[in-house]
Amino acid sequence: MRAMPLLVVAFPTLAEAEAESMSLPAHDLALLRLHEQSFGITLSAFTTCPCCGERLEFGLPLSALAATLSSAAQTARSFVHEGYALRLRLADSAAAAEAAMEPDLAAAETLLLDCCLHAADVNGSASPAEAPLHRALAR
Ligand SMILES: [Zn+2]
Repeated sequence: MRAMPLLVVAFPTLAEAEAESMSLPAHDLALLRLHEQSFGITLSAFTTCPCCGERLEFGLPLSALAATLSSAAQTARSFVHEGYALRLRLADSAAAAEAAMEPDLAAAETLLLDCCLHAADVNGSASPAEAPLHRALAR
């Protein structure tokens, strides 16, 4: 089952559109809370040794991951770059899903920047110069 239906079923007051518009850290934090309620305070994980392929299993405390996601979920950044006031917000699940459908990485980057970056000139209007700014920020 995909993550979005899980969240909507687990949190009945959450509409699917609301779940899709949650920032990715907020979305992951909700999934972490669901995991905690269902399976406890430790996330079971594994990795394989790159040399011999031996499997190593270990537990991660959810509290550390939740603290990181919680602080990241609040973040929107504003800054000035070459005379433009830029506001960068975190991607949401809908944008990530759209980006995943793009034919290549460059197209996915452009889509995410279009979705997450707002640029305005000194008069506060959206600028046609956003595309060059996108390219500068993407590299
Ligand atoms: Zn090994």
